[in-house]
Amino acid sequence: MTKRTNAVHNVDQIRLALIGIPFDENSSYMKGAATAPPLIREAFHSDSSNLWSELGINLAERSIIVDAGDVDFISSDNVDRQIEEVVTKLLNQNLRPISLGGDHSITYPIIKAFSSKFYKLNILQFDAHPDLYDEFQGNRYSHACPFARIMEEGLVQRLVQVGIRTMNAHQREQAERLGVEVIEMKDWQNDIGLKFTTPLYISFDMDVLDPAVAPGVSHYEPGGFSTRQVLKIIHEAKAPAIVGADIVEFNPVRDVHGITAMVCAKILKEIAARIILQK
Ligand code: MN
Ligand code: MN
Repeated sequence: MTKRTNAVHNVDQIRLALIGIPFDENSSYMKGAATAPPLIREAFHSDSSNLWSELGINLAERSIIVDAGDVDFISSDNVDRQIEEVVTKLLNQNLRPISLGGDHSITYPIIKAFSSKFYKLNILQFDAHPDLYDEFQGNRYSHACPFARIMEEGLVQRLVQVGIRTMNAHQREQAERLGVEVIEMKDWQNDIGLKFTTPLYISFDMDVLDPAVAPGVSHYEPGGFSTRQVLKIIHEAKAPAIVGADIVEFNPVRDVHGITAMVCAKILKEIAARIILQK
């Protein structure tokens, strides 16, 4: 008799934590990303699909994913500190956090938490924008600046950006000064083969996708990736371990029939499976 099992991979050891971040005060153009977390969860659990990753992992299996709820901001001061503390707590429980929602400014405090846990962290940033401004509209913590802060403080060993299609002279200078590896959208090739040799964190800004496939974002930048292209990158990027991720800049106010929420959920499933499959 042949024993049949649905569990094609051993998923015993690694557990994920979902953490919603309802924060968009550092958005420069349009608010809305703060309302994303419950909508991503709803799409993730929607009966219109299932919880299997294309990589063969059933995310509905008990104890793979812990939902840590949303960050309950005690005050609007020290938002960064509050985010860093929540993420540190999850990391200290040996969970691999994936944050849902918020504008891209949240990645800076998240990476502060990760960098004190992981040596020589690498970041793979999916984004239409490099987010490398020294300051934007007088705000050094704008969602247009987080990766300048991260690199200035030496929090990571490498930052690789894909999907970029809004480079200007200032940000090109910043990228050079800070040693950021920018792969502009115009230069993208599907067989480019991204490779990392130390722990990898994925920062996924939804506007990396073409607005035709993900209209629920604040900044429409045509000429972006298809959903399949980003899934292929997620599936195939080489790294000894993927240790966490964020999915940011989903703006439900701009969404059409929940399309972008479903794309967020899809990306969440595939990143989650990649995290689990690392050994
Ligand atoms: Mn961004
Ligand atoms: Mn962006």
